[in-house]
Amino acid sequence: MGGCEHHSPIGAAIGDCKLQNEKPKWVVRRADFDRLFPVLTNRGYEIIGPTIRESAIVYDKLSSVSQLPAGWSDEQEAGTYQLRRRGDQALFGYAVGPQSWKKLLHPPVLRLWSANRSQQGFHAETEEEPSPRFAFVGVRACELRAMGIQDRVFQQGAHTDKTYRARRSQAFIIAVNCGQAGGSCFCVSMNAGPKADSGFDLALTEILEGGRHDFVVEIGSELGAEVLRQLPCREATGEDIARADRIMAETSQSMGREMDTRGIKELFYNSLEHPRWDEVASRCLTCANCTMVCPTCFCTTVEDSTDLSGDHAQRWRKWDSCFTMDFSYIHGGSVRATARSRYRQWMTHKLATWIDQFGTSGCVGCGRCITWCPVGIDITEEVRAIRVGKTEGAN
Ligand code: SF4
Ligand code: SF4
Repeated sequence: MGGCEHHSPIGAAIGDCKLQNEKPKWVVRRADFDRLFPVLTNRGYEIIGPTIRESAIVYDKLSSVSQLPAGWSDEQEAGTYQLRRRGDQALFGYAVGPQSWKKLLHPPVLRLWSANRSQQGFHAETEEEPSPRFAFVGVRACELRAMGIQDRVFQQGAHTDKTYRARRSQAFIIAVNCGQAGGSCFCVSMNAGPKADSGFDLALTEILEGGRHDFVVEIGSELGAEVLRQLPCREATGEDIARADRIMAETSQSMGREMDTRGIKELFYNSLEHPRWDEVASRCLTCANCTMVCPTCFCTTVEDSTDLSGDHAQRWRKWDSCFTMDFSYIHGGSVRATARSRYRQWMTHKLATWIDQFGTSGCVGCGRCITWCPVGIDITEEVRAIRVGKTEGAN
């Protein structure tokens, strides 16, 4: 079979949906899914997707569907993460791993410029390498929301980040609606999942039942329609769509955690002296893991280096964190010298001041900061504790 059996309807679907407000969906069989990768590669994309490295599911460069974590899932709780075998061959049967797509759009380490001294003097060169064209395979709804949040930070403010903008604008995004929630997930509380509702080129719902293994596919862009046209597919029936909807409903009902976000901005603005900050500081190691794994945290520092001759210099940008002592260092000392003040800064920014700064919460409920905190500090539990404290009249 060549391209999609319903070649014309896919083309028409995008125009129709604007009028009908209901998009037709399509079904790609697992047996035909392998064709997706050559289609993307032939279009010049570098494919990035989930794969297993060092006992975790991470995002890395892929050349074949066989590198996806087929038959694997993850068990997550506060401070713990473990892979386990599934009873089927689901390609996307896990929640989210330690890495987010942030590492590709907002690189952890980036050389900003280098300078060399010659007899004519110093000559500085900025980094002008062509930007990679990524195809992201397996982006979860919470991660799409996180990208939208970082868009505001890097593209929609007074200053744009050209590295982020170039990578983001070219990225082809294949979302995957979550077929199961992780133990640390609370995207429903943050209104960020488990179903991807926008921001993708294609969105998949993986269906495994009764020997069937298919993907229900939703088109999110003209480019997505073009790619789908190159795959064997059929139009989804009402039963296919109902099954996909049931999966979403079941996932929504099985969130590992929840967070009460009512009045959360005011709650945190009124809790700056809450005794819970001392309690959490007694456990927090200020290791910065929570900020490194968070898909929305964006802080960086800048470091200059020179060689011993003094003829070559470079300026690097690196991820930093509000949990490091140096991050708030100004002459004379660090503004936030204690674990109490640093944890309070992080959480108050995430859940309160971010709203005033960028118009959204800084948290999408992915649960990574809970899973990857070495001492199991749980942001949902901390919100609960602060809320209860307020109810009991604590200041
Ligand atoms: S909350 Fe956990 S992950 Fe974050 S800095 Fe403290 S110990 Fe590290
Ligand atoms: S604060 Fe935690 S749960 Fe929220 S987006 Fe960041 S890592 Fe995910």
